[in-house]
Amino acid sequence: MTDRPLLTEVCATTTPGDHEPEGSAVAMPRVHKFGGTSMDGAERLQALAAIIRDQRDPSVVVVSAMAGVSDELSRLADAATTGDDAPGVPDPATTLAAMKQRHLDALQVIVKEDAARASVAARIDEIFDGATQLLGEGPGAEAKRFTDQLMAVGEDLAVELAVSALQAEGIAAAVLNAREIVWTNSEFGAAVPDFESIRKLAPSNILSVVEEGCVPVVQGFIGSEADGATTTLGRGGSDFTATLLGAALGSPEVVIWTDVDGILSGDPSLVGDARVVPDVGSEEAVELSYFGARVIHPAAAKHAIASDLPLRIKNSFAPERPGTLIHSHRGGAAAFAAVAHKTNVALIRVRAFPTALAYGFLARVFGVLGRHAVPVDLVSTSHSSTAFTVDRDEDLSAVYQALSVFSEVDVLKDVATVTVVGRGMLREPGMDALVFWAVEKTPVYLISQASDVSINFVVDEAEAPELVHRLHLSLIELKEGAREDAAREEEEREEEVRAEEAREEEALEEEAREKEASERKEGDRR
Ligand code: ADP
Ligand code: ASP
Ligand code: MG
Repeated sequence: MTDRPLLTEVCATTTPGDHEPEGSAVAMPRVHKFGGTSMDGAERLQALAAIIRDQRDPSVVVVSAMAGVSDELSRLADAATTGDDAPGVPDPATTLAAMKQRHLDALQVIVKEDAARASVAARIDEIFDGATQLLGEGPGAEAKRFTDQLMAVGEDLAVELAVSALQAEGIAAAVLNAREIVWTNSEFGAAVPDFESIRKLAPSNILSVVEEGCVPVVQGFIGSEADGATTTLGRGGSDFTATLLGAALGSPEVVIWTDVDGILSGDPSLVGDARVVPDVGSEEAVELSYFGARVIHPAAAKHAIASDLPLRIKNSFAPERPGTLIHSHRGGAAAFAAVAHKTNVALIRVRAFPTALAYGFLARVFGVLGRHAVPVDLVSTSHSSTAFTVDRDEDLSAVYQALSVFSEVDVLKDVATVTVVGRGMLREPGMDALVFWAVEKTPVYLISQASDVSINFVVDEAEAPELVHRLHLSLIELKEGAREDAAREEEEREEEVRAEEAREEEALEEEAREKEASERKEGDRR
């Protein structure tokens, strides 16, 4: 892949060198990634610049598109691909004009000097002209390729504004095009990075810029394939860009700046009393990200572990707060960390025909999934049945057909996974009991506990919020003894309900007895 042409657009004062991390004179930079809400308008961009200004070590900045922009671009791409211009859906020109205005409004506040502002505005114009032309040409036969070219607009705009904000704060900064560093395969929409090339390209492109005292600002989420076309790493992929660059540079740490104080003990939209988890082991972070805690992308967490790269999650709205450190050397006592849930899940249950051979059943089931390249998340098995979860959006018809040849199959689509993540959950006696105390009232389709750091439940989607709530209450909120108090109170409430039911039943029986006696008397009288 190394003979691919580079598209050069780097810090004007520098030329790319051939630096390797070991040979560099400067401290290795920290990579700071800013998510959509941390990019959302002039005030947030100024906050970004202040955060970078306050760093002691050199910085590399990775940015995501402004909040909501990627969703809008994705809708435009879908409409162009499906030819859907339903009433009420704004036309592309209106959407793009509003998006452009949003970026120009931010620029207006950030850059006071007319000439400097005009030059960035011209670049913004250029990016929107490109988008308009792309939409005019349409997707042709390559919808995914087309979508990626359009999605990149959000990050291409974001780097321009971030550089402007940094420069306005007196910090030398320049756009460094991710397409020159994040080389990927051609799987548009979910491109796989070429780690080997990135390990060479990141130092050679980035360190020369850093040595000049300049902050490189790189688009998150995007890369390029061998023909130079833009690719994307999948939604939420800017976190992955940050860890790819951090690992390739040998950074001491990657900081993910977002809109919450760190990894929380539960999704704040479901759990009112979620607390910041100060310290999370890498495996726990991977489980949390795979099973629904959106705050960190699973690929980023996995890549950080593989590279022994510490990650810190921090709140760009409150940078003084410590955040959460994710690292592979977390030790200490067994403890619960967080509860997560994921809704985009289907459960497939497979039961071998009674006539099937006593061996080879599981091999056949998973052979089918392997051949159809369907990733499996959770699995549970008994002698002649197995159940597993997959992504609900997968096209499962071919898998269903292939499994039906040798088994009874049913697919449940309205399910969710609820996951408890912690440390030492298999080793520490009693930890599972606390989990099951909370699960007791919820009908469960599948339980899976294959490692020391997580236990997963598959339940009806409608039950998931209540189960998350109860688990959080049992494992995180209730202190020693309080759980017993809560159990006692619950028992007393149930006892009261039972007593009330018994009283009602007794009253009904009494009524029936009286009725019977009066009917008997009536009969005797006659
Ligand atoms: P960004 O745009 O900065 O990448 P994301 O929206 O991808 O931010 O992720 C941050 C959001 O993740 C938070 O605003 C929060 O609502 C959600 N979230 C879900 N579960 C958790 C959790 N366990 N800890 C922290 N945040 C969580
Ligand atoms: N902007 C992209 C998205 O919304 C990438 C990211 O936010 O990480 O998916
Ligand atoms: Mg994110």
